[in-house]
Amino acid sequence: MKCIKCKKTAEVELKSHNAAFCRDCFVEFFKNQVIKGIKKFKMFTDKDKLLVAVSGGKDSLTVWHVLNELGYKADGLFIDLGIDGFSEVAKKTTEAFAERLSAKLIVVDLKKEGLAIPDVVKKTRRVACAVCGQIKRYYFNMTALKYGYDVLITGHNLDDEVGRLFSNVLHWKMEYLKDQSPLLPAEDGLAKKAKPLWRLTEFETSVYAFFNDIDYVSISCPLSKNATFRSYKKHLNEIEFDSPGTKIDFYQGFLKNMLPVLSKKNESSIKNRCKICGYPTLADVCGVCRLKGLD
Ligand code: SF4
Ligand code: ZN
Repeated sequence: MKCIKCKKTAEVELKSHNAAFCRDCFVEFFKNQVIKGIKKFKMFTDKDKLLVAVSGGKDSLTVWHVLNELGYKADGLFIDLGIDGFSEVAKKTTEAFAERLSAKLIVVDLKKEGLAIPDVVKKTRRVACAVCGQIKRYYFNMTALKYGYDVLITGHNLDDEVGRLFSNVLHWKMEYLKDQSPLLPAEDGLAKKAKPLWRLTEFETSVYAFFNDIDYVSISCPLSKNATFRSYKKHLNEIEFDSPGTKIDFYQGFLKNMLPVLSKKNESSIKNRCKICGYPTLADVCGVCRLKGLD
């Protein structure tokens, strides 16, 4: 098999793009997809102050790396979740990567905030990933606003977006569907959020990470129990295998045909601000401040 660009021996075959690439041409292809994804939604420019939410995992380190390669100066934000045996490794990996990029890294320590995930799970008996997601989103947003960043960036890839879309459609979660865009504009109290890897699959992201020697955390979080979501991804991979290109078609079709309709119908309903921290909320006090108040 030959690279479709330079005719050297190909190392990666991408059926959904009807293409095969050598190492260098694949990396070029990946960067071009990121540029296309950023431009399509006018996500940001090199004048913007960018903050990348980094967990130490493949996707977040990859997005940080590729933005750096494309000439964007982006700082990192790591949330130490306080999960024994996992968070220490994730933090060390992220710090080493920040050093490699010579980039600034902001660390928020949830133990110091009284919100270490295992403790919160014990107190509330809620599903770990639900409460962890809520707390992470809160600190991503608050940190971006506190330090004056223009955009908060996450490493979500096409598989994440399609998996979530599939789940939200299966259960018709209209309130989540309207927010399922690679770009969420800033609102009062909410930072602008962007997902530059939305056009790239999990596989393509892994290949990019491998070709660029990105040393990421490979152990799984011990609290992870998101089996339903994983099974959706598995089914979608089977469909993609039989019919390459389905994932990107499904997502782009949604963005083009459904999102504009949903966005018009669902104006943001959150008008209140938490009386303790100022975070947008439907109640008097936001969910995270309520968690902090628990004994
Ligand atoms: Fe948090 Fe769940 Fe991810 Fe663990 S797997 S870091 S609990 S969201
Ligand atoms: Zn609050």
